[in-house]
Amino acid sequence: MTPSKHEGGAFGGIDDLYREVILEHFKAPRNKGIVSSASHQADGVNPLCGDQIKITARIENGKLTDLKFEGQGCAISQSSASMMTAAIKGKSIAEAQSLTRDFKRMFGLEDAELQQKDSKHEESLGDLEALEGVKKYPVRIKCALLAWNTLLQALENSQ
Ligand code: ZN
Repeated sequence: MTPSKHEGGAFGGIDDLYREVILEHFKAPRNKGIVSSASHQADGVNPLCGDQIKITARIENGKLTDLKFEGQGCAISQSSASMMTAAIKGKSIAEAQSLTRDFKRMFGLEDAELQQKDSKHEESLGDLEALEGVKKYPVRIKCALLAWNTLLQALENSQ
């Protein structure tokens, strides 16, 4: 048998272009660290894979003026966290929730809590679309969603 081009590893089946985007965020994560004087924070774990994410944020006047993550785990969990902070930092809480909903929808998931605020808008998710290939691997979706679910927790967890 000749080995398939997409065979093996955490990235099996994900297109090369997307793999590059994911690896680029994994190697050079955006907004890595802890926000000093954070107003909101949460810790998330994905026991299936061993991924850990800590989100810290400063929210002022309804906007996420600063947002960082710390963590360890697989490339998908960590690059998703990096992309999440890059996409969300500077946004309002409502925009953060909306983008999280759009991101989950990319995997065919609907969040009941968020759905009620549904405004049916669909915008390009940019780099985040690199993670769409993960949806073929249900176990990996948990890796991709960890940072986003932890963000939602952080929004509820003021210090
Ligand atoms: Zn993982």
